[in-house]
Amino acid sequence: MNRRQFLKSALFTTVGAFLLKTTKVIAAETKKLIEKVSTKKYRNLNISAIGFGLMRLPQKNGEPDVTRTQAMVDYAMEHGINYFDTAWYYHGGKSELTVGKVFKKYPRSSYYLADKLPLRILGGKDHVLQVFEEQLKKCNVYEQLSQKKKEGKIKYLGFSIHDTPELLEEVIKTYKWDFVQLPINLIDWEKTDSSGWYGVNAKKQYEIATKAGLPVVVMNPLKGGQLSTLNQAAVELLKKENPNVSPSSWSLRYVASLENVFVVLSGMTEMEHMVDNVKTFTNFKPLTEKEQKVLSNAIAVYKSSGAITCTYCQYCVGCPIGIDIPKQFNIYNEYKADNKKDKFIAAYESVKAGCRAQDCISCGICKPKCPQKLDIPSLMKEVAKTYKELKNA
Ligand code: SF4
Ligand code: SF4
Repeated sequence: MNRRQFLKSALFTTVGAFLLKTTKVIAAETKKLIEKVSTKKYRNLNISAIGFGLMRLPQKNGEPDVTRTQAMVDYAMEHGINYFDTAWYYHGGKSELTVGKVFKKYPRSSYYLADKLPLRILGGKDHVLQVFEEQLKKCNVYEQLSQKKKEGKIKYLGFSIHDTPELLEEVIKTYKWDFVQLPINLIDWEKTDSSGWYGVNAKKQYEIATKAGLPVVVMNPLKGGQLSTLNQAAVELLKKENPNVSPSSWSLRYVASLENVFVVLSGMTEMEHMVDNVKTFTNFKPLTEKEQKVLSNAIAVYKSSGAITCTYCQYCVGCPIGIDIPKQFNIYNEYKADNKKDKFIAAYESVKAGCRAQDCISCGICKPKCPQKLDIPSLMKEVAKTYKELKNA
């Protein structure tokens, strides 16, 4: 069950509560008394505890849909979300351009925007500056920030990293930073090996950053949407404790409850994700000890389903055979979540012949590109094997 499906199904069980909320929002809007999301303090700034990650924007004809993105950003700003996160790579460079368009109407001082340099394509120092200037222009904040830069007044410098705790430690030691952006979620929280479920070892990374005095921005809190699309058994455990909140809400609260986290980024694609997140972070309450146990149990149940820990980030694109790797993993994971054999077979067969998991030649080109350190060729074999077994069953 994905986040949209959960939110829709929740309508039936919690229709009263949902309508009340909707009514409340509409009424509040009429009176201009919109409740704002909770904030956390970073230095002397008040940052919204939930930030809008701009890497999974709604799309139209393969490009970010500016109209829908504008509506989501307007809703976010209206409800006090003031932290937004983009990068050179997101949507093949179009995320930054969309930022330039949708934030035009807002005073620059009314929001915080994090952007990232594309380290993988950067050459020397001159190239870094050239790309940086281009990013500022694309985001339409060139005038303001270039002036700040000339004055030496860029105040807070942070970095984003998807790697091992060892490399994190190295980067922290080498430069002077103000904050760090880390992938943290309950699936990746513990364990030290670099395969399967626990490649990132988020707990250790969080502790390293905390020890170094670096406040943390959390990315990937829902593991690319996996924590929104738990299997039925896991969802049931959460619903039993609280039928009115989505699985995403549980997992976002988990990371936002960590003391050294000042903002949690959520990559939102639909308006209902935005509405759900705003609801979670309005009058934010950390998870209680009991709730933490319930969530941990649900995640353990989900892990035992054998889903692949792909975050669908697309960093692995460029398979010479033309295999859409995240799509293959998504088809597999949906089967692990809903156990619907016919649906899995139909989805697998809807992929163009020659570009299916069974066509992987194990060249390994994709493997080093994966920030989750997934053994993609082996996992392709697993997807193909599952298809073969189900088809012949
Ligand atoms: S290992 Fe398989 S999936 Fe990865 S790039 Fe090679 S053929 Fe494509
Ligand atoms: S296989 Fe790895 S790189 Fe590819 S989409 Fe999944 S997590 Fe991202």
